[in-house]
Amino acid sequence: MKWRVDRRRMMAGGAATLLASCDERGPRVEGTVLAPGDGRYEDWRQAMVWQARKPDRRPAIIVRPRQNADIAAALQLARRQRLKVAVKSGGHHIWGAQLRDGAMLIDLWDRRGLEIDAATGTAWVEPSLWSRDFQERLLEQGFAFPVGHCATLGMGGFLIGGGLGINWTNWGGMSCYSVLAAEVITADGRTHIIDSEDEPELFWALRGAGNGFPAIVTRFKVKLYPAPTDLRWSMYVFPLTQTDAAVSLLEALTALNLGNCELLSLLAHAPTAPPEARGLGAKVCAVRANIFGRDAADAQRSVRRVAEAARPGGAVFKLEDQRSTFEQSFVESMDFRRGFGLGRFGVDSAWTDDPRAALASLAAPFAEAPSWKSHAVISMRPADLITPDAACRMHGSTYLGLYASWDETERDVENIAWLRRCAAAIGPAATGHYINEIDAERDASLVERSFDAESWRRLSSVRERYDPDSRFVGFFGL
Ligand SMILES: Cc1cc2nc3c(=O)[nH]c(=O)nc-3n(C[C@H](O)[C@H](O)[C@H](O)COP(=O)(O)OP(=O)(O)OC[C@H]3O[C@@H](n4cnc5c(N)ncnc54)[C@H](O)[C@@H]3O)c2cc1C
Repeated sequence: MKWRVDRRRMMAGGAATLLASCDERGPRVEGTVLAPGDGRYEDWRQAMVWQARKPDRRPAIIVRPRQNADIAAALQLARRQRLKVAVKSGGHHIWGAQLRDGAMLIDLWDRRGLEIDAATGTAWVEPSLWSRDFQERLLEQGFAFPVGHCATLGMGGFLIGGGLGINWTNWGGMSCYSVLAAEVITADGRTHIIDSEDEPELFWALRGAGNGFPAIVTRFKVKLYPAPTDLRWSMYVFPLTQTDAAVSLLEALTALNLGNCELLSLLAHAPTAPPEARGLGAKVCAVRANIFGRDAADAQRSVRRVAEAARPGGAVFKLEDQRSTFEQSFVESMDFRRGFGLGRFGVDSAWTDDPRAALASLAAPFAEAPSWKSHAVISMRPADLITPDAACRMHGSTYLGLYASWDETERDVENIAWLRRCAAAIGPAATGHYINEIDAERDASLVERSFDAESWRRLSSVRERYDPDSRFVGFFGL
């Protein structure tokens, strides 16, 4: 067996028995293998979670395999040692679902490849490729994909959980709906290419099962979209007391069905308020139209239609027809002043059919956010957006994501309690949830409520069939 680590050092630690038996009887795992006895284990454990708030959970062993054969060998080792298996791609899961006590953590960080087939407008993408890097390389060949808004999201967890990506309402809906096939390794170590005809039930689960998916994805085949060449945005800002007016604008703009415009509403700290300020006056509700024009004329047409629809809307401040690029939008997502950058995070979410009621209930707790960096994102889907046969459903007309974001370790409890108050406020209007952005430690039933009843039953049977010994750790929080 080959290790990158110093084996003598490792054998002196707690992993001795585990690794010795693996050495004698198992196949080779080429790559990095670390267990708690290794001096670097704690640094690696922490690096498995992207944000600064690291859960206090300890895998029995962390494996970073190189090839599929190494993943199969790691699974064989896990079987022999009766270890559960967790998987990590980008490590962005906000509650750190990939870190599980006593499990083997398979870290796919070395899997960041991309093969673009320009002739068919498709690509094979590996799970740890970041959103920004994926999009940048697609642009070189004139393509785009609804990647996550944050530059450093891994495609693995993002796509398996569903994916609310850039311009998602115009590029196929949830990003997983644009997954055409995948290469997966099942618990028995076998590699399969799956799609709607080969292993259709596993393929159905791949598109939305999130951290309940019972296999390891080593690459996805995705449909690509023609790259827009002219990106612009317009933004209309309302006081937090006027969420109703913001929802009206969002509805009016959604009804325009422009075909090249991503509409978002953001609850955020007022740029002019001091950081420590609280109360309704310290917060705003912005409606933002991100326009992805085929060319200048196409972009200008949408900017104009958006401006016309917004004219009677009562915004207290507006910025219209601002130039942008993909790179700029990723830079913004990493900009600490906007609260999306490195720091401590908590997340929760809901789908709703009643955005007015949800935002009206949210305004008061949101205004009391202990951190100025915390924000909420609201996104509406056009009524005619098609939902294919996939585990991931859009459970309402509107998605509402709550993001608590702060810096100080000693304020974890306060900020998470605030997030939970906000989640409780929108709870009565919720029609369902998004598996990638739920606080399952607050309420484990959110896991099941991320699926409809039939999908939940179907998912259980897919999991039993493909992972009969429950080798994979399964849903976080259950
Ligand atoms: C700052 C920030 C911004 C975000 N923005 C968005 C956004 O715009 N849109 C959106 O939809 N979501 C967003 N999210 C949520 C994001 O979709 C999830 O956090 C997702 O899990 C990230 O993917 P990852 O590969 O980094 O996850 P990881 O943390 O690596 O994995 C999460 C889970 O997914 C499963 N998994 C991951 N890779 C594999 C694999 N290869 N095979 C099998 N199972 C796997 C595992 O169960 C794992 O526990 C955001 C999160 C953050 C922190």
